[in-house]
Amino acid sequence: VALNAKTVRRLPDEVVVPGYDRSRVTVGIVHLGVGGFHRAHQAMYLDRLMAAGEALDWGICGVGVLPADRAMADALAAQDHLYTLVVKHPDGRYEPRVIGSIVDYLFAPDDPEAVIEKLAAPATRIVSLTVTEGGYNLHHVTGQFAADNPDVQHDLVPGVAPKTSFGLIVEALARRRDRGIAPFTVMSCDNLQGNGDLSRRVFTAFARLRDPQLADWIDANVRFPNSMVDRITPVTTDADRAEIARRFGVEDRWPVVCEPFTQWVLADDFGAGRPGYEKVGVQVVDDVEPYELMKLRLLNASHQALAYFGHLAGYRLVDRAAADPLFATFLRQYMDREGTPTLAPVPGVDLDAYQASLLERFANPEVRDTIARLCAESSDRIPKWVLPVIRAQLKAGGPIDHATAVVASWARYAEGVDEQGEQITVVDPLADRLTAAAKRQRSEPLAFLADRSIFGDLIDDERFTASYRATLDSLHTVGARATLEGLVAG
Ligand code: NAD
Repeated sequence: VALNAKTVRRLPDEVVVPGYDRSRVTVGIVHLGVGGFHRAHQAMYLDRLMAAGEALDWGICGVGVLPADRAMADALAAQDHLYTLVVKHPDGRYEPRVIGSIVDYLFAPDDPEAVIEKLAAPATRIVSLTVTEGGYNLHHVTGQFAADNPDVQHDLVPGVAPKTSFGLIVEALARRRDRGIAPFTVMSCDNLQGNGDLSRRVFTAFARLRDPQLADWIDANVRFPNSMVDRITPVTTDADRAEIARRFGVEDRWPVVCEPFTQWVLADDFGAGRPGYEKVGVQVVDDVEPYELMKLRLLNASHQALAYFGHLAGYRLVDRAAADPLFATFLRQYMDREGTPTLAPVPGVDLDAYQASLLERFANPEVRDTIARLCAESSDRIPKWVLPVIRAQLKAGGPIDHATAVVASWARYAEGVDEQGEQITVVDPLADRLTAAAKRQRSEPLAFLADRSIFGDLIDDERFTASYRATLDSLHTVGARATLEGLVAG
């Protein structure tokens, strides 16, 4: 049956449906960027709270800011804003749950004024965001708010109907200030380090271009909590829709699929209240940074450890490489010996269990994550995820061989030709420069490291370069697999 508020009662027992009265749920949160991730994560936590009879005044009103969101607006409207969230377990089991916490949706391109008034309404106490990295409008070179973006320029014209999140949110904040209504909290759930601090920076930067006094008022009065979010949520495919219809008899225009693991670490920094998230597994903390470093140096760095060695060894899917005992051992040794010792204590997290959960997640064949995805944008990722571990270990006199080998594997990959002589497509804004340097390294082994805009002064550290040269040489002479065997035998 087609999913909606009437048919949801008739679904098979194995599909969990909202047991609470949705007609009693009122909007407390307006969310910009209702995509897969929001629906697998934040809306799911609220649904759990509502199922426990709580947070009924924290219902979500979704907002689509971009014209491309019309499809989501239509899908949700046809289904009374209900949708099916399907957790895919590694053994092939699907765990379906119809989520009821989104109770309204506004499509800004059709009616921006309605969105602004919803944001300005006294009941709206949190405005949350999953608008992707691009949604923060940072200049790709300076890293500052890109004021020259034509849509931003458009939104700065007084009295205009806004096109951007900045125009919508800042106008709503101005109205709240003028009406004497306390501001909402802006809660970014995007995957960016210091996402709250970044949001404060870009929203006040926009406001400052419009009205410096308003910018000062926002900076002084609006809270922007940081958060760390984690749950792999791939794009929904037609195969997913068909499989969900086949297994459960639900015809859902836009279901969401995700992995079993989920994590949300949230700074307790709210100006106008918040749902009792901690009751449903959210870690509400004072400082998110230790958790972010844990994720960057264990999850993200391990992905890099799988990526280039994996590709060179012939793997194309993450789960296949992660299920290979040689790779699993290499990752575990990297995390145990090199990554984890550089972390400050992470309150409430068992790091051993976290490491084990990462290996399990990577090996989940249902997620179908690709090695190619992990190999992209390396020049942005290696300096954030891997080099800090090497620097910390060099300073502490600790082991560096595994993390350094990841860097060497990237250098080998960047040559653009694999061990069978096949072409490698290097996806990186700096691809040309990187490949040119990598091609020189058979005669000039440190050529790749000479780029100080990426590697800083690591090339001056002899312990690092000795380890790097050994691995690069091994990659050239015996290949990726034998190199890993040597490393794990250490
Ligand atoms: P998605 O493509 O399903 O949804 C993205 C939403 O953001 C869409 O509604 C889109 O219109 C909106 N958007 C994009 N650019 C925008 C802009 N400039 N202004 C306003 N809205 C804009 O993507 P998703 O899977 O939901 O992921 C969204 C974000 O969530 C990611 O970029 C990441 O920061 C975070 N996240 C995703 C995952 C995941 O596995 N998918 C995991 C952790 C965190």
